[in-house]
Amino acid sequence: MRLTFLGTGTSHGIPVIGCACAVCKSENQKNKRTRASVWIESGTASIVIDTATEFRLQAVREGINKVDCVFLTHSHADHIHGIDDLRPLSRYKPIPVYGNPVTISDVKKRFSYINNDAGGGGGKPRLEFYEIKDIELTVQAEPADCNPGHGSSTNTENKIIIRPVKIKHGKVDILGYRVGNLAYLTDCSFIPPESFEALEGVEILIIDALRYKPHPTHFSVDQALEMIEKTGCREAWLTHMCHNIEHEALEKELPFHVRPAWDGLKINF
Ligand SMILES: [Zn+2]
Ligand SMILES: [Zn+2]
Ligand SMILES: [Zn+2]
Repeated sequence: MRLTFLGTGTSHGIPVIGCACAVCKSENQKNKRTRASVWIESGTASIVIDTATEFRLQAVREGINKVDCVFLTHSHADHIHGIDDLRPLSRYKPIPVYGNPVTISDVKKRFSYINNDAGGGGGKPRLEFYEIKDIELTVQAEPADCNPGHGSSTNTENKIIIRPVKIKHGKVDILGYRVGNLAYLTDCSFIPPESFEALEGVEILIIDALRYKPHPTHFSVDQALEMIEKTGCREAWLTHMCHNIEHEALEKELPFHVRPAWDGLKINF
Protein backbone atom coordinates (compact mmCIF):
# COMPACT_ATOMS: atom_id res chain seq x y z
CA MET A 1 0.00 0.00 0.00
CA ARG A 2 1.07 3.56 -0.50
CA LEU A 3 0.19 6.75 1.36
CA THR A 4 0.66 10.22 -0.09
CA PHE A 5 0.54 13.31 2.06
CA LEU A 6 -1.81 15.60 0.14
CA GLY A 7 -1.38 18.35 2.72
CA THR A 8 0.51 18.74 6.01
CA GLY A 9 -0.47 22.24 7.17
CA THR A 10 -2.67 23.56 9.91
CA SER A 11 -6.03 25.24 9.28
CA HIS A 12 -4.80 28.49 7.72
CA GLY A 13 -2.25 26.81 5.44
CA ILE A 14 1.41 27.85 5.12
CA PRO A 15 2.28 30.51 4.02
CA VAL A 16 -0.38 32.25 6.09
CA ILE A 17 -2.13 35.05 4.23
CA GLY A 18 -0.48 38.37 5.11
CA CYS A 19 2.30 36.84 7.23
CA ALA A 20 5.92 37.84 6.68
CA CYS A 21 7.58 35.42 9.12
CA ALA A 22 10.64 33.44 8.03
CA VAL A 23 8.68 30.21 7.49
CA CYS A 24 5.93 31.89 5.46
CA LYS A 25 8.61 33.64 3.36
CA SER A 26 10.75 30.49 3.05
CA GLU A 27 11.74 29.27 -0.43
CA ASN A 28 11.93 25.69 0.83
CA GLN A 29 9.02 23.74 -0.70
CA LYS A 30 8.82 21.66 2.48
CA ASN A 31 7.72 24.81 4.33
CA LYS A 32 4.76 25.26 1.99
CA ARG A 33 1.91 23.31 3.52
CA THR A 34 -1.61 22.95 2.20
CA ARG A 35 -4.39 21.81 4.54
CA ALA A 36 -3.98 18.32 6.07
CA SER A 37 -5.18 15.27 4.15
CA VAL A 38 -3.83 11.92 2.92
CA TRP A 39 -4.41 9.60 -0.04
CA ILE A 40 -4.07 5.83 0.39
CA GLU A 41 -3.81 3.37 -2.50
CA SER A 42 -3.68 -0.41 -2.63
CA GLY A 43 -3.65 -1.89 -6.11
CA THR A 44 -6.65 -0.27 -7.74
CA ALA A 45 -8.35 0.77 -4.51
CA SER A 46 -8.06 4.45 -3.62
CA ILE A 47 -9.29 6.34 -0.58
CA VAL A 48 -8.75 9.80 0.80
CA ILE A 49 -8.91 10.81 4.42
CA ASP A 50 -10.48 14.30 4.51
CA THR A 51 -11.18 16.59 1.58
CA ALA A 52 -9.10 19.57 2.57
CA THR A 53 -9.63 23.13 1.38
CA GLU A 54 -7.09 22.66 -1.46
CA PHE A 55 -8.36 19.19 -2.49
CA ARG A 56 -8.53 20.11 -6.18
CA LEU A 57 -4.95 21.38 -6.25
CA GLN A 58 -3.75 18.37 -4.27
CA ALA A 59 -5.59 15.87 -6.50
CA VAL A 60 -4.30 17.47 -9.70
CA ARG A 61 -0.75 17.62 -8.31
CA GLU A 62 -0.78 13.91 -7.39
CA GLY A 63 -2.76 12.69 -10.41
CA ILE A 64 -5.68 11.27 -8.42
CA ASN A 65 -8.13 9.93 -11.01
CA LYS A 66 -10.33 7.75 -8.83
CA VAL A 67 -11.58 7.81 -5.24
CA ASP A 68 -13.53 4.75 -4.04
CA CYS A 69 -14.29 6.14 -0.65
CA VAL A 70 -13.74 9.18 1.58
CA PHE A 71 -13.19 9.02 5.32
CA LEU A 72 -13.58 12.21 7.33
CA THR A 73 -11.78 12.83 10.61
CA HIS A 74 -14.05 15.70 11.70
CA SER A 75 -15.98 18.62 10.29
CA HIS A 76 -13.60 21.56 10.77
CA ALA A 77 -13.43 23.72 7.67
CA ASP A 78 -9.83 22.82 6.76
CA HIS A 79 -10.73 19.10 6.58
CA ILE A 80 -13.93 19.23 4.54
CA HIS A 81 -14.12 22.40 2.49
CA GLY A 82 -12.70 20.71 -0.61
CA ILE A 83 -15.60 18.23 -0.73
CA ASP A 84 -17.23 19.86 -3.74
CA ASP A 85 -14.10 19.07 -5.75
CA LEU A 86 -15.09 15.37 -5.68
CA ARG A 87 -17.43 16.32 -8.52
CA PRO A 88 -15.40 15.05 -11.50
CA LEU A 89 -14.43 11.91 -9.58
CA SER A 90 -18.08 11.05 -8.84
CA ARG A 91 -19.28 11.46 -12.43
CA TYR A 92 -19.79 7.73 -13.04
CA LYS A 93 -20.45 6.42 -9.55
CA PRO A 94 -21.46 8.10 -6.29
CA ILE A 95 -18.65 8.21 -3.73
CA PRO A 96 -19.39 6.96 -0.21
CA VAL A 97 -18.31 9.38 2.53
CA TYR A 98 -17.84 8.06 6.06
CA GLY A 99 -17.45 9.91 9.34
CA ASN A 100 -18.72 9.83 12.88
CA PRO A 101 -22.38 10.90 13.34
CA VAL A 102 -21.55 14.50 14.32
CA THR A 103 -19.23 14.96 11.35
CA ILE A 104 -21.74 13.56 8.87
CA SER A 105 -24.56 15.68 10.30
CA ASP A 106 -22.38 18.83 10.11
CA VAL A 107 -21.27 18.13 6.54
CA LYS A 108 -24.84 17.50 5.39
CA LYS A 109 -25.92 20.81 6.93
CA ARG A 110 -22.99 22.81 5.60
CA PHE A 111 -23.22 21.33 2.11
CA SER A 112 -27.01 20.90 2.05
CA TYR A 113 -27.13 21.49 -1.72
CA ILE A 114 -25.32 18.18 -2.32
CA ASN A 115 -28.29 15.99 -1.37
CA ASN A 116 -30.94 18.52 -2.26
CA ASP A 117 -32.86 17.81 -5.46
CA ALA A 118 -34.32 21.31 -5.68
CA GLY A 119 -32.13 21.95 -8.68
CA GLY A 120 -31.13 25.46 -9.61
CA GLY A 121 -28.45 24.50 -12.08
CA GLY A 122 -24.76 23.96 -11.64
CA GLY A 123 -23.04 20.66 -11.05
CA LYS A 124 -22.60 19.01 -7.71
CA PRO A 125 -20.73 15.99 -6.43
CA ARG A 126 -22.61 12.68 -6.13
CA LEU A 127 -21.95 11.59 -2.58
CA GLU A 128 -23.51 9.03 -0.25
CA PHE A 129 -23.04 9.84 3.42
CA TYR A 130 -22.64 7.10 6.02
CA GLU A 131 -22.20 7.37 9.75
CA ILE A 132 -19.63 5.19 11.40
CA LYS A 133 -22.02 4.33 14.20
CA ASP A 134 -19.94 2.24 16.55
CA ILE A 135 -17.79 5.12 17.63
CA GLU A 136 -18.07 4.03 21.26
CA LEU A 137 -16.72 0.61 20.40
CA THR A 138 -13.84 1.77 18.34
CA VAL A 139 -11.59 -1.11 19.14
CA GLN A 140 -14.16 -3.70 18.13
CA ALA A 141 -15.48 -1.67 15.22
CA GLU A 142 -16.18 -3.71 12.13
CA PRO A 143 -13.62 -2.74 9.55
CA ALA A 144 -15.27 -0.81 6.74
CA ASP A 145 -14.65 -2.45 3.39
CA CYS A 146 -14.16 0.53 1.17
CA ASN A 147 -13.98 -1.36 -2.08
CA PRO A 148 -17.65 -2.36 -2.28
CA GLY A 149 -17.38 -3.40 -5.92
CA HIS A 150 -14.99 -6.16 -4.87
CA GLY A 151 -16.64 -6.97 -1.56
CA SER A 152 -16.28 -10.72 -1.84
CA SER A 153 -12.93 -10.63 -3.56
CA THR A 154 -10.07 -12.33 -1.81
CA ASN A 155 -7.63 -10.16 -3.67
CA THR A 156 -6.22 -8.10 -0.83
CA GLU A 157 -4.15 -6.11 -3.34
CA ASN A 158 -7.25 -4.17 -4.27
CA LYS A 159 -8.74 -3.82 -0.87
CA ILE A 160 -8.20 -1.35 1.94
CA ILE A 161 -9.45 -2.28 5.36
CA ILE A 162 -9.71 0.85 7.50
CA ARG A 163 -10.62 1.08 11.12
CA PRO A 164 -11.69 4.21 13.00
CA VAL A 165 -9.68 5.17 16.07
CA LYS A 166 -11.46 7.39 18.56
CA ILE A 167 -9.38 10.42 19.57
CA LYS A 168 -9.99 13.80 21.23
CA HIS A 169 -9.53 17.16 19.50
CA GLY A 170 -9.88 19.45 22.51
CA LYS A 171 -13.34 18.56 23.84
CA VAL A 172 -14.54 17.14 20.52
CA ASP A 173 -14.61 13.42 19.75
CA ILE A 174 -13.14 12.87 16.33
CA LEU A 175 -11.70 9.95 14.40
CA GLY A 176 -8.24 8.89 13.45
CA TYR A 177 -7.91 5.92 11.12
CA ARG A 178 -5.82 2.80 11.04
CA VAL A 179 -4.93 0.95 7.85
CA GLY A 180 -2.82 -2.16 8.38
CA ASN A 181 0.31 -1.23 10.29
CA LEU A 182 -0.22 2.51 9.78
CA ALA A 183 -2.32 5.00 11.75
CA TYR A 184 -3.27 8.57 10.84
CA LEU A 185 -4.10 10.79 13.82
CA THR A 186 -4.49 14.42 12.81
CA ASP A 187 -6.08 17.15 14.94
CA CYS A 188 -5.45 15.24 18.11
CA SER A 189 -4.85 16.46 21.65
CA PHE A 190 -5.59 13.26 23.57
CA ILE A 191 -5.62 9.56 22.82
CA PRO A 192 -8.01 7.70 25.17
CA PRO A 193 -6.55 4.56 26.79
CA GLU A 194 -8.92 2.25 24.87
CA SER A 195 -7.68 3.69 21.60
CA PHE A 196 -4.14 2.60 22.42
CA GLU A 197 -5.51 -0.92 22.10
CA ALA A 198 -6.65 -0.06 18.58
CA LEU A 199 -3.14 1.21 17.91
CA GLU A 200 -1.41 -1.90 19.15
CA GLY A 201 1.18 -3.14 16.69
CA VAL A 202 1.17 0.08 14.67
CA GLU A 203 4.53 0.47 12.97
CA ILE A 204 4.03 3.78 11.20
CA LEU A 205 2.31 6.61 13.03
CA ILE A 206 1.28 9.91 11.47
CA ILE A 207 0.45 12.36 14.19
CA ASP A 208 -0.57 15.96 14.76
CA ALA A 209 2.26 18.25 15.95
CA LEU A 210 0.90 21.77 15.54
CA ARG A 211 3.76 23.75 17.10
CA TYR A 212 6.32 23.75 19.93
CA LYS A 213 4.05 25.46 22.50
CA PRO A 214 1.14 23.47 23.97
CA HIS A 215 -2.27 24.13 22.43
CA PRO A 216 -5.74 23.26 23.79
CA THR A 217 -6.82 21.20 20.77
CA HIS A 218 -3.60 19.87 19.18
CA PHE A 219 -0.51 18.00 20.31
CA SER A 220 2.67 20.02 20.52
CA VAL A 221 5.89 18.53 19.14
CA ASP A 222 6.88 17.23 22.61
CA GLN A 223 3.45 15.74 23.23
CA ALA A 224 3.51 14.07 19.81
CA LEU A 225 6.92 12.57 20.65
CA GLU A 226 5.48 11.25 23.91
CA MET A 227 2.64 9.54 22.03
CA ILE A 228 5.06 8.13 19.46
CA GLU A 229 7.08 6.63 22.30
CA LYS A 230 3.94 5.23 23.91
CA THR A 231 2.78 3.42 20.76
CA GLY A 232 6.25 1.95 20.22
CA CYS A 233 6.03 2.53 16.45
CA ARG A 234 9.21 2.19 14.42
CA GLU A 235 8.56 5.23 12.23
CA ALA A 236 6.58 8.43 12.77
CA TRP A 237 5.68 11.46 10.69
CA LEU A 238 4.46 14.79 12.05
CA THR A 239 1.65 16.67 10.32
CA HIS A 240 -0.83 19.57 10.67
CA MET A 241 2.09 21.92 11.40
CA CYS A 242 1.77 25.70 11.69
CA HIS A 243 4.20 28.44 10.65
CA ASN A 244 6.10 28.28 13.95
CA ILE A 245 7.70 25.13 12.58
CA GLU A 246 10.59 25.41 10.13
CA HIS A 247 11.04 22.07 8.40
CA GLU A 248 14.84 21.71 8.46
CA ALA A 249 15.16 23.10 11.99
CA LEU A 250 12.61 20.66 13.38
CA GLU A 251 14.06 17.73 11.44
CA LYS A 252 17.45 18.28 13.09
CA GLU A 253 15.96 18.15 16.59
CA LEU A 254 13.94 14.97 16.19
CA PRO A 255 14.93 11.40 17.05
CA PHE A 256 16.05 9.42 13.98
CA HIS A 257 12.73 7.60 13.53
CA VAL A 258 10.58 10.75 13.60
CA ARG A 259 10.37 13.27 10.75
CA PRO A 260 8.18 16.20 9.83
CA ALA A 261 6.10 15.22 6.78
CA TRP A 262 5.73 17.47 3.74
CA ASP A 263 3.20 17.89 0.95
CA GLY A 264 3.71 15.23 -1.71
CA LEU A 265 5.70 12.84 0.50
CA LYS A 266 4.88 9.19 -0.28
CA ILE A 267 5.40 6.27 2.06
CA ASN A 268 4.97 2.58 1.35
CA PHE A 269 3.60 0.32 4.03
ZN1 LIG B 1 -7.31 20.80 11.19
ZN1 LIG C 1 4.08 33.06 9.08
ZN1 LIG D 1 -9.72 20.48 13.61
